[in-house]
Amino acid sequence: MHAFCDFDGTIAVEDVTDAVLDQLASPQWHEFEEAWAAGEITAAECMRAQIPLIDATPQQLNALLNTMKIDAGFVDFVHFCRSNEIGITIVSDGVDRFISRVLANHGITGLEIIANRMSYSVSSQGCRYRLDTPYASTGCPPGAGVCKCRIVRMPEDHFYVGDGRSDFCVSHQASIVFAKAKLEAYCQQQAIPFIPYEGFAEVQRTVAMLLDDPARRVSVSRLARTA
Ligand SMILES: [Mg+2]
Ligand SMILES: [Zn+2]
Repeated sequence: MHAFCDFDGTIAVEDVTDAVLDQLASPQWHEFEEAWAAGEITAAECMRAQIPLIDATPQQLNALLNTMKIDAGFVDFVHFCRSNEIGITIVSDGVDRFISRVLANHGITGLEIIANRMSYSVSSQGCRYRLDTPYASTGCPPGAGVCKCRIVRMPEDHFYVGDGRSDFCVSHQASIVFAKAKLEAYCQQQAIPFIPYEGFAEVQRTVAMLLDDPARRVSVSRLARTA
């Protein structure tokens, strides 16, 4: 079995990229956000324009990332998965370095992370950040930096955990979807079967039940909800 998990709003309590931009970027980042909301630029273009607006040293950036909270059940969930040979891949339209830093702060290392890639260079002018979006796609409607439906090669036996817009496209192809917030509303609207959850403690209880149940599909259809 393999777990695919969104990051912002699913593992991280708040949207880490938004928090970084909000606190460390020059205010111009709002203009790109508005251009994206108006459909003038894609989400990938928006993020590639916003990340260089971060005006902070790597130390200041890390200090902010150190304050980011994660779901209270996620550390246990990682241990649970490891002891049950369930692989975990994080698929996020956020920033790889932010994700690995936040997880490491909570003692979690070694998870596969598929996300936008940030790099930086330090010179006498200061620190310049740059974002690459190797997983961007023009195919999916929001023009996301990470188009999850294209890059996630899901083995047959898997589940997906998400909460928002970046999970919409992949929810159509995931075999078991755990959904909350906007993703829950989307699944209802699209008649995609999903299992509602509030946090990873609940996901873990359900997955433990599925592991005990050789006729997994039966219990899933019992748990899953559609509109
Ligand atoms: Mg999310
Ligand atoms: Zn997609």
